Amino acid sequence: MPSNFFDDVNQYFDAACRHTEVSPDILDQIRACNSVYRLRFPVRRDDGTIVVVEGYRAEHSHHRLPTKGGIRYSLDVSQSEVMALSALMTYKCAVVDVPFGGAKGGVCIDPRNESAPFLERVTRRYTSELIRKRFIGPDVDVPAPDVGTGEREMGWIYDTYKILGPDTLNALACVTGKATSVHGVSGRREATGLGAIIALEHFLSEEEDVKPLGLETGLAGKRIIVPGLGKVGLHAALAAIERDAVIVGVSVSDGALYDEGGLDVEAVLLHRSETGSLRAFPDARYLANPDAILEEPCDVLIPSALEHQITAANAPKIQAKVIVEAANGPVDPDADAILREAGTVVLPDIYANAGGVVVSYFEWIKNLSHVSFERMTRRYQQISNNRILDAISHLTGKSIPPEDTALLLQAPNEIDFVRTALENTMAISYEKIHELWKRRSLPDLRTAAYLSAVESVASSYALDGIFP
Ligand code: GLU
Repeated sequence: MPSNFFDDVNQYFDAACRHTEVSPDILDQIRACNSVYRLRFPVRRDDGTIVVVEGYRAEHSHHRLPTKGGIRYSLDVSQSEVMALSALMTYKCAVVDVPFGGAKGGVCIDPRNESAPFLERVTRRYTSELIRKRFIGPDVDVPAPDVGTGEREMGWIYDTYKILGPDTLNALACVTGKATSVHGVSGRREATGLGAIIALEHFLSEEEDVKPLGLETGLAGKRIIVPGLGKVGLHAALAAIERDAVIVGVSVSDGALYDEGGLDVEAVLLHRSETGSLRAFPDARYLANPDAILEEPCDVLIPSALEHQITAANAPKIQAKVIVEAANGPVDPDADAILREAGTVVLPDIYANAGGVVVSYFEWIKNLSHVSFERMTRRYQQISNNRILDAISHLTGKSIPPEDTALLLQAPNEIDFVRTALENTMAISYEKIHELWKRRSLPDLRTAAYLSAVESVASSYALDGIFP
């Protein structure tokens, strides 16, 4: 019997609440999922027949507005799943201090087996239903990509909202994760995967946390497995390789690969798109059961696709010393207890995969301000750097080498602002949860992250004069 995902999230929440003095009535309000809109709507298939599609949008918490969270297209979408994922969004936004409540949407379709015109009709109809019930809007609820959706779907949502929505001036900010050509922000596509690697780097930098695991500090040379090589997993793997880690294993929905010497993940994906499977990828061991990759030898496991990948059934067989939850809810509470007992460290989803919503926040700000980040500052920065260089040359009587001058005169682009702001946010949040973990002698980083989230949401209720 599969566990109820929303109950699982609440189990983590309740475990953290044992360490807080926030009163039980406030905790009840924080835990509750405020609104769930379940909708069914007819959509015409390409052959002219009509199918009734089921969808959801859950808004877990309105302590900050708008609410924020992705839209998932998958046959596994259910009420419990969107409620759980919306709760994770509330806690995630609180941990990384972005001013949103949590939300999540889902539509019960398998996008891999549907045509683009059908998916467009579903997306536009789903969006118009959300508009009708005020479950979308720049100041109300702002969707983003999740499993099975991407820039294309976000573009359709924006276009539908622009035509039908009440808010024309700020329509651009009704959804994030749009392509940069449709007023998205540079760096959003890779943000979740990159954020997960930044999270891992922070954990691996603390000798007192890393040594007991029998590992050296730093990412270089770490053997990593990425189960679920989708959008998030790919960018996590690429960011890890860039930092000299080795990707020894990956999986997709229909198989997995393991190679102790390291995999070229882009070549793996190319092989899959050319041959239709991972089978016969040169020099690597092929595993027909994708879940088996979780139990292969490695230092770090980065589950990047779906929830409930690690349960009591496989947790005792996990060899990784560190698990980074790049997906939402990949480790269930039973597995979490087994792993903690075994000394395995889990970097929790509500911190580790928050990079996506952090950069969504930057996109939302950009869309509301109707100006890109570098436009107002770029030229001025170049001029002032030039003045500093002139002053240094004047004072020292020496001219600065041309290669240094070129570097110093390189003014920042949007991507530079986005990357550094993401790095800064992940660093500050890690410091906060790490400090809580140690100072309050909490059992693990998940408890620390939840505790940080609970206390932050409680204090915003207090600031609003509710539950003072
Ligand atoms: N779907 C992503 C998540 O689960 C991103 C949400 C967003 O950017 O709003 O964090």
